Amino acid sequence: MRRLILILGDQLSHSLSALADLDPQADIVLMAEVAEEAQYVPHHKQKIALLLSAMRHFATGLRARGVTVDYVRLDDPANSHSFSGEVARAAARHHPDQILVTEPGEWRVLQMIEGWQRALNLPVTIRPDDRFFCSRAEFAALAKAGKTSRMEYFYRDMRRKTGILMDQGAPVGGQWNFDSDNRKPLSKGARPPARRRFAPDAITREVLEMVAERFADHFGDLEPFGWPVTRAEALAALDHFITDALPLFGDVQDAMKAGEDFLYHSLLSPALNCGLLLPQEVCAAAEAAYKAGHAPLNAVEGFIRQVLGWREYVRGIYWVEMPGYAATNALNAHLPLPDLYWTGDTPMRCMAEAVSTTRRTGYAHHIQRLMVTGNFALLAGLAPAAVEEWYLAVYVDAFEWVELPNTHGMVLHADGGRLGSKPYAASGAYINRMSDYCRGCAYDVAEKLGPKACPFNYLYWDFIDRHEARFARNPRMAMPVRTLRAMEPSRREAIRADATAFLDSLPSSGPAWPLRG
Ligand SMILES: Cc1cc2nc3c(=O)[nH]c(=O)nc-3n(C[C@H](O)[C@H](O)[C@H](O)COP(=O)(O)OP(=O)(O)OC[C@H]3O[C@@H](n4cnc5c(N)ncnc54)[C@H](O)[C@@H]3O)c2cc1C
Ligand code: SF4
Repeated sequence: MRRLILILGDQLSHSLSALADLDPQADIVLMAEVAEEAQYVPHHKQKIALLLSAMRHFATGLRARGVTVDYVRLDDPANSHSFSGEVARAAARHHPDQILVTEPGEWRVLQMIEGWQRALNLPVTIRPDDRFFCSRAEFAALAKAGKTSRMEYFYRDMRRKTGILMDQGAPVGGQWNFDSDNRKPLSKGARPPARRRFAPDAITREVLEMVAERFADHFGDLEPFGWPVTRAEALAALDHFITDALPLFGDVQDAMKAGEDFLYHSLLSPALNCGLLLPQEVCAAAEAAYKAGHAPLNAVEGFIRQVLGWREYVRGIYWVEMPGYAATNALNAHLPLPDLYWTGDTPMRCMAEAVSTTRRTGYAHHIQRLMVTGNFALLAGLAPAAVEEWYLAVYVDAFEWVELPNTHGMVLHADGGRLGSKPYAASGAYINRMSDYCRGCAYDVAEKLGPKACPFNYLYWDFIDRHEARFARNPRMAMPVRTLRAMEPSRREAIRADATAFLDSLPSSGPAWPLRG
C-alpha cells in the first residue's frame, strides 16, 4: 500500500496526524510551493519567506529520518502552481493507492481537497488536525449545546478539560480572569527586553533571494528577516519569551509605545500557526514558569487565555460558521480601504506607527491590530472584505481561520455580535491612555471637533450616530447612545460633517488586488 501524504505549509509538525503511521518504505510525502497560495493576496514578503524556508527545513528534517519527500519548488519549470495541479502530477509520478492529508486550516482549501477523490479517481483520507486543544467536532458539539456564545465560558470549559491552571476543580488563584490587572500603560522607565531574532542560514538566504526577485511588488520589507524557521529555533524563541518577557506580559498586555515593536509579547504566533510549536507545549511552558515562581499568575493566566482561550475559540467559530461567516456585513460597512493602510502616509501618529511596524516586521501586537488599525476600520465603516484582505496579507502569522474571526467578528462586528457582544469601538482617549502616540501627533487628542481634532474622536461619535438604533438595543452600548442623545442637534451635525470631510479627504485607490469571493 503506497500513500501520497500531502503536507501543507502550515502543517510543519513531526507529530502531524497525517504522519502518525508513516511507512518510510512505501509512503511518499509531497510538499509543494505554489504561486496560487503565495499570491492570492499580496502577502508580506517576510511571510512568504518564512513559510517557504520553514517548509524547506521541514523537508530536510523528514529526509534525515529516511522519509521520501517529493518537494516541488516554486522555481520548478514544471510546477503547475496549484495544490490540485501538484497532487495530480505527483499521483501520476508515484501511482499511490491513496492520498492522505491532515485537514487544512482553511475552508477554501478543504473544498479543494474534497474534490480530489472524484477528480483523480483515488481514495482521499482527511484526518483531523489534533494539534489543537479542541477538535472541530468537539467545538461543533459545544456550539450545538449553546456553550460557545462567549469566549469566557468556552475558555473555562477548556481549563476544566485540560486541568491547566486548575487546582482540585477550581481556578488557581481563586479567579478565572486577571484582566483587570493587565491594563496598565508602560511605565516611563520600562525597558522591554531585546528580542531574540534568528540569522538566516543558507536555506533561508536562498529563499530570501527568490522572494526579493519574484515578489518585489508585495507589501513589506523583506529584510532584516529574523523569524524562527526550524523547530529548534522555535523552541529557542519560546524559551526566550518565557525567560525574558513573560513575567511582565500581563501588566502591560494592552500597552503601546512608539518605537517599541514588540514590548513583552511572545512573537510566537508565526511558529504556532505553521506548526513549529504546539499550543500544548507553549501553555505547559507558561504554567511551569508560574509553578517555578518565575512569572506571576496575572501574566501566565493572561497568556494562557490567549492561546487556550482565544486561539481555540476563533478557530471553532471559523469552522462552525463558514462559509456564510465571511459574507455577513451587519453594520453595512462599504468604504474602500484608504491607501494609508499600505503606505503609512498619514499625520495620525498611531496609524503611521502601526503600519510602519507592520511593514518593517510583518508583525504588530494585538492592541495595535485591534484598537488602532482595527478601531479605525470599524469607526470609518470600511468594507469588511477589503479590511480582511489587508489583515490576511500583512502579518506573518495570518491564516484565514484565525485572521477572519478576529477581523470580521472582533474588529468589525460584521457578524452582528457572534464573536463579541459589543464592538471594540473607542475614541482617541483610549489610545492616549494606553500609549505615548498622541504626544507626538499632528492632531490634538483633547480636541473633539475641527481641523486639529483627533479624527478618532469625531469618527467615534459618528459611528455611534450611524448605528444609534441598533446600539440602543444593545445593553452594553447603552451608555454611549445615551450620551449621544443628550448632545445638541447642532453638535451631532458638526460631528457628521467633520467625519464625512475627513473620510472624503483620504486617498483610496480601491482594491488593487481581487477581493476574496
Ligand atoms: C484584526 C486582527 C487580526 C488578527 N489576525 C491574526 C492572525 O492572522 N493570526 C494570528 O495568529 N493572530 C491574529 N490576531 C490575534 C493576535 O493579534 C495575534 O495572535 C498576536 O498579536 C500575535 O502576536 P504574539 O504571538 O506576540 O501574541 P501574544 O500577545 O504573545 O499572545 C500569545 C498568543 O496567543 C494567541 N492569540 C492572542 N490573541 C489571539 C486572538 N485574538 N486570536 C487568536 N489567537 C490569539 C496567539 O497564538 C499568540 O501567539 C489578530 C487580531 C486582530 C485584532
Ligand atoms: S491624537 Fe488621535 S490620531 Fe493622533 S495619535 Fe492620538 S489617537 Fe492617534
